[in-house]
Amino acid sequence: MSGSQSAVGASVIVVGGGVTGLSAAWWLARSGVDVIVIEKNIVGWGASGRNGGGATHYHSPLFAEEQRLWPQMDDLLGYPTEYRSKRIRVAINERQMEAARPSVDRTLQQGFPARWLDAKEVRDLVPLAGESAVGGVFFDRAGQANPQRTVQAYAWALQDLGGKLLQHTEVVGFERVADKVTTVKTTNGNFACDQLLIAAGPQTGSLSRLLGREVPVTSARAEMIVTEPVPLMPIGGVDGNGLFGRQTLRGNLVYGGGPHEWLPEGSIDAERPSSPLSRSIAKRLVEMFPKAQHIRVIRSWGGIIENTPDGRPVIDHLPGASNVVVATMSSVGFGLSPASGHAICEMLLEGKCQFANLSDFQLSRFDNLSPGWREEWGWVPPQTLGAVGRAL
Ligand SMILES: Cc1cc2nc3c(=O)[nH]c(=O)nc-3n(C[C@H](O)[C@H](O)[C@H](O)COP(=O)(O)OP(=O)(O)OC[C@H]3O[C@@H](n4cnc5c(N)ncnc54)[C@H](O)[C@@H]3O)c2cc1C
Repeated sequence: MSGSQSAVGASVIVVGGGVTGLSAAWWLARSGVDVIVIEKNIVGWGASGRNGGGATHYHSPLFAEEQRLWPQMDDLLGYPTEYRSKRIRVAINERQMEAARPSVDRTLQQGFPARWLDAKEVRDLVPLAGESAVGGVFFDRAGQANPQRTVQAYAWALQDLGGKLLQHTEVVGFERVADKVTTVKTTNGNFACDQLLIAAGPQTGSLSRLLGREVPVTSARAEMIVTEPVPLMPIGGVDGNGLFGRQTLRGNLVYGGGPHEWLPEGSIDAERPSSPLSRSIAKRLVEMFPKAQHIRVIRSWGGIIENTPDGRPVIDHLPGASNVVVATMSSVGFGLSPASGHAICEMLLEGKCQFANLSDFQLSRFDNLSPGWREEWGWVPPQTLGAVGRAL
């Protein structure tokens, strides 16, 4: 810590103990950097502990690194994430078959295997799929992991390397000297830093606003449902019919997928009782897995998805604050977290990501964004079941 005015602090302070902040902090600690993660709740309290566990983002510039890292993560972290490779997308009509084409093309273009399946092959590989399946796609490398296990693994691995974790501590402001943030103000005192990472999910917007340049991000509530366990299928990661999810090692089916409920700006209300969203997921799950119609739903939960206007992440230096990086992943942050943490670490230590071109994630693409973008996009409450969540 060079510019610090206080004895308490770290070379890098990370705001947000979700997978983005934790992974970045772990990569920094692996490089010998003194780092503190500050989390206002407990690690994984946001979307990071509540998501579908999918790790297949063929459309991202971080895809190759995502696919390279996941199979190694248990060994690198030293704790289990329950990562399993392979994924099948099931189509229950010709429109869904056609909609899968870009994912196949992009996967093949990047040198990863993907092959079309006919209806019989789908039924052989996915015993719960019935006569409704018209075909599908098999992705050999794409995969899925257990979100709660993964959050815990990052947090433990970080601490094993000497990184610090401060939970139940909210960041409420910053002090600056010229264009640098020198102090992070929290509900548990002030912390000095040389560099700052804001990886606060949906709250990345309001925190960056305090530093004079707001990252445009808005919140949407989504739900996941969990069934009682059923015999393990050969492939645990099966998507389709507008749903994403996985079968846990115990056998439960854990599924989510549109529609979203847009929330008022700044709202992080995930904790509503079960809603029409769960019913919509259950209905589409039975359409995809007709042989699962007798299985009971035993649980559901809500989570808040962070959304940028174009659906792509922001990972960038914050203009006007030369020692600050902002990172918000716009609904694809779990699977990309091994790679996003690596990228952020390089941005903080080397000035830019060395292994991928992240120009698509720059904040400057929103320079001309209208202040009323949420209203113009229709991303405002109330929103009911509509186009966003309708099955293809
Ligand atoms: C239901 C659901 C299903 C999803 N499925 C998938 C999927 O299958 N695959 C996939 O890749 N992605 C999925 N996502 C998206 C993914 O979960 C997120 O993109 C990812 O978790 C974002 O991680 P994060 O660390 O950037 O943000 P978050 O997980 O939101 O973490 C941010 C953290 O910052 C903390 N924080 C906020 N403000 C402050 C403050 N002032 N002071 C201190 N701490 C603060 C919050 O408490 C929170 O813990 C899903 C999301 C949901 C909700």
